[in-house]
Amino acid sequence: MFYIGCHLSCAKGYYPMGQDALRIGATTFQFFTRNPRGGNARELDDADIAAFLKLKEENGIGTLVAHAPYTLNACSADAATRDFAWRTMADDLKRLEKTPGNLYNFHPGSHVKQGTETGIRLIAEMLNAILKPEQPTTVLLETMAGKGSEVGGRFEELREILDRVELSDKMGVCLDTCHVWDGGYDIVNDLDGVLTEFDRVIGLSRLKAVHLNDSKNPLGAKKDRHEKIGEGYIGLEAMTRIINHPALRGLPFCLETPNELDGYAAEIALLKSRRT
Ligand code: FE
Ligand code: FE
Ligand code: ZN
Repeated sequence: MFYIGCHLSCAKGYYPMGQDALRIGATTFQFFTRNPRGGNARELDDADIAAFLKLKEENGIGTLVAHAPYTLNACSADAATRDFAWRTMADDLKRLEKTPGNLYNFHPGSHVKQGTETGIRLIAEMLNAILKPEQPTTVLLETMAGKGSEVGGRFEELREILDRVELSDKMGVCLDTCHVWDGGYDIVNDLDGVLTEFDRVIGLSRLKAVHLNDSKNPLGAKKDRHEKIGEGYIGLEAMTRIINHPALRGLPFCLETPNELDGYAAEIALLKSRRT
């Protein structure tokens, strides 16, 4: 099965997202747990969730990726911002108990002049305070472009966070193709080498999802500007190798390209045509 989908608006609830996914040919999707630039979460509606779970089951929709808001920064220098991160993640994981077995992806954070080591320590501190042995959701660290003081631009930084988390089996990694490319990992000319490096440093068994984005910038630019599939520096041929790579094929792939639903439908169709 090819699990391919895109980022959908969560504003309407789960069932409408499922309908949108099916309409555009998606077999998985990603959604924000709440306003990506704020903190407000939508009220959960049990009837909506039940209808969605039935739709998901009947149509073979795969594992979903919930994405934390961008404002969540566990390693901020500001205590109130860290407190928001803790409360938001705890609440998101509580809400996701209603749709068990899915993934929760977050940006490790920006340490803003405190240094990477302090950043890593603060991120692990939050995870150790919040993860629970009984939680039915796997929490993913996203590979970042290394823009500014972002933590997670190097595989080693993610490894260090994972090493400090006590409930390590609740954790995984989401590989964002634009981010790793911008971070200097050459997935165009040496995909095998990058995945070997990922395996050596983090372990491929930790890799649970892929964000499929082209990049507006060249290798190592550390910019993090997503481009439509095939229209950026990564290109369609490299994307084709990524979706078919034996180490990646079984994972959920989510597009976060600059598109509306029509554009996503076209990219999903294009990638399906490239799947071998
Ligand atoms: Fe992200
Ligand atoms: Fe991403
Ligand atoms: Zn990005």
